[in-house]
Amino acid sequence: MEEKKIIYMDHAATTAARPEVVEAMLPYFTDKFGNPSSVYTFASGNRDAVSNARRIIASTLNTEASNIYFTAGGSESDNWALKGTALSLADKGRHIITSKIEHHAILHTAEFLEENGYDVTYLDVDENGIIRLDDLKRSIRPDTILISIMFANNEIGTIQPIREIGEIAREHNILFHTDAVQAYGQLPIDVEALNIDMLSASGHKLNGPKGIGFLYIRKGIILKNLLHGGQQERSKRAGTENVPGIVGLGKAAELAAKTMDERIQKETELRDYLIDRVLAEIPYSRLNGHRNKRLPNNANFCFQFVEGESMLIMLDMAGICGSSGSACTSGSLDPSHVLMALGLPKEVARGSLRLTLGGENTREEVDYVIDNLKSVVDKLRSMSPAYEDYIKNSQI
Ligand SMILES: *Cc1c(COP(=O)(O)O)cnc(C)c1O
Repeated sequence: MEEKKIIYMDHAATTAARPEVVEAMLPYFTDKFGNPSSVYTFASGNRDAVSNARRIIASTLNTEASNIYFTAGGSESDNWALKGTALSLADKGRHIITSKIEHHAILHTAEFLEENGYDVTYLDVDENGIIRLDDLKRSIRPDTILISIMFANNEIGTIQPIREIGEIAREHNILFHTDAVQAYGQLPIDVEALNIDMLSASGHKLNGPKGIGFLYIRKGIILKNLLHGGQQERSKRAGTENVPGIVGLGKAAELAAKTMDERIQKETELRDYLIDRVLAEIPYSRLNGHRNKRLPNNANFCFQFVEGESMLIMLDMAGICGSSGSACTSGSLDPSHVLMALGLPKEVARGSLRLTLGGENTREEVDYVIDNLKSVVDKLRSMSPAYEDYIKNSQI
């Protein structure tokens, strides 16, 4: 049987590990399986491999290796930044500022903290999905201990004014954390220039392995531990190091940094081609998120009179992998909290489609996706009573 070609345009959900990444990891499953904490020489190479990955990652952020702490991924890093800060600064204050469009790893952690005596302000965003700096300034209180605003949004790709947020946080002596899971490896990030105190990233979003990530913590900031146990990660994060994962993440970070400029240019061009054609050729469609201040690989649309899940199923039949809302919310019928925060009506937000490109996607693939998308949208509208009514009324 001929295998159906898969066109993968869901790189915001996860990415394939690059062959070089897998190759770098393999020896650490077998020959080099030692525990980095062991005393004998056999394990010392593993300590070196972990240090090397830490150094590579630190250099991509313009910081020191000792500020990088490995975790089991973006969710753990986000949990640690919020809960760790909340616990260590509880005497100073119990107010946290974040936004309405954060990933659930932030939002659900913030809700957990609210249940435990903390106060959280969820900033609104404008119609493009960007927070208003005046809102941020106004929401700061004497007991505010943390501002956590994502670098770039996982659904609509919008990039926040991180430098300005960092400046405001610094002026008020408040810690600033950013969930950079989507941005790290896609955009240049300098934690010094941007005044970032803590930053979360995850391996599987940058062609690295799943289940590994890191939290950057500026030197001098004391976070309470999330995980207690052994003395790994300078006694800040217990658990035997995921050596293959760490090595893979280091390799992925190195490759991402090396290829970044080229990828940004290529993906931006392809993204703009996709966006321009869809908006021009499919009526009653809109782009979600800022037109330019967005990740180079992100396109997110709403199609009126169409239901997102049906669209995904029909695209899947053509071998196309996209998403509606985010991977975490699909399966639920509620429209995405991000699209709702943009002020879209529910019925419009339900017709959303996110296509996120990767380095291997081609113009031919984009053409194929657009052709299929046009016929899918047509087909679904032809079965939609709301569309029929709309057309009838507009012809009177
Ligand atoms: C994927 C993602 C996460 C979660 O990262 P995991 O490594 O899957 O736990 C957190 N925040 C954002 C913005 C993400 O895109």
